Amino acid sequence: PLGVTFRDVVFGYGGRLEGRSPAHRGVTFEVPAGGLTALVGPSGAGKSTVFALLERFYEHDAGTVAVGGRDIRHWPLAELRSAIAYVEQDAPVLAGTLRENLLLAAPDATEEEVRRAVSRTRLDGLVERLPGGLDAQVGHRGVTLSGGERQRIAIARALLRRPRLLLLDEVTSQLDAVNEEALREVVVELAAETTVLAIAHRLSTVVRADRIVVMEDGRVRAVGRHADLLRSD
Ligand code: ADP
Ligand code: ADP
Repeated sequence: PLGVTFRDVVFGYGGRLEGRSPAHRGVTFEVPAGGLTALVGPSGAGKSTVFALLERFYEHDAGTVAVGGRDIRHWPLAELRSAIAYVEQDAPVLAGTLRENLLLAAPDATEEEVRRAVSRTRLDGLVERLPGGLDAQVGHRGVTLSGGERQRIAIARALLRRPRLLLLDEVTSQLDAVNEEALREVVVELAAETTVLAIAHRLSTVVRADRIVVMEDGRVRAVGRHADLLRSD
């Protein structure tokens, strides 16, 4: 797994000269390799921008972003992006079978890896229930899946890329309490094997994180464990 370092990162989407308040105004935090780190803060705080900079969709204007201890400007881009997997909020299930959906970004994954990704994301029950199992149609005109199932398919799909850094964007926010709790368990287990950096809106959803980075208005306001942050607020 790869750790992440942001040091004094400044970044504005419109470029520095357009007079907008930059999305990052000196962002500094450290994500150790392995474990679950949550990024929280109000909408517009700069959380998604952390992900966008990590994948080098944009170049930061100042400061340092490092992945695995190496400045991302020194990573070959394809190598950097293949080390990172991103799961978006409301990840789509695409037309096709469950297997096709899982192998979308990892066509070379073995049967054993597919089985393992399925079990780590608690999709075994679904596979057993579906006529045709992994080869059942789940996308377009296929079976209807719950929000939690769709989100777990997206995570399994990301796992099959063997990420060394897994970025999760609000993966539990649209779910009911039962599905949310189940998904939280899955995420905590994954953090035992890879570095997980997860965006969340509410502090209550990140009780299980090893570390929480609180952002506000383009800066890091606090870093700590859940209990520490509740005390200091
Ligand atoms: P969060 O994920 O915490 O909601 P973002 O990182 O998405 O915050 O946004 C930080 C700031 O950057 C906000 O002011 C937002 O409006 C702005 N921003 C985000 N994405 C873009 C973009 N693609 N172009 C211009 N401004 C953007
Ligand atoms: P919002 O989150 O504001 O509703 P979108 O749903 O359109 O906006 O998502 C855009 C955000 O998602 C961008 O800020 C971008 O940084 C992030 N994003 C999109 N694709 C990726 C990706 N592959 N990896 C990391 N971040 C991504």
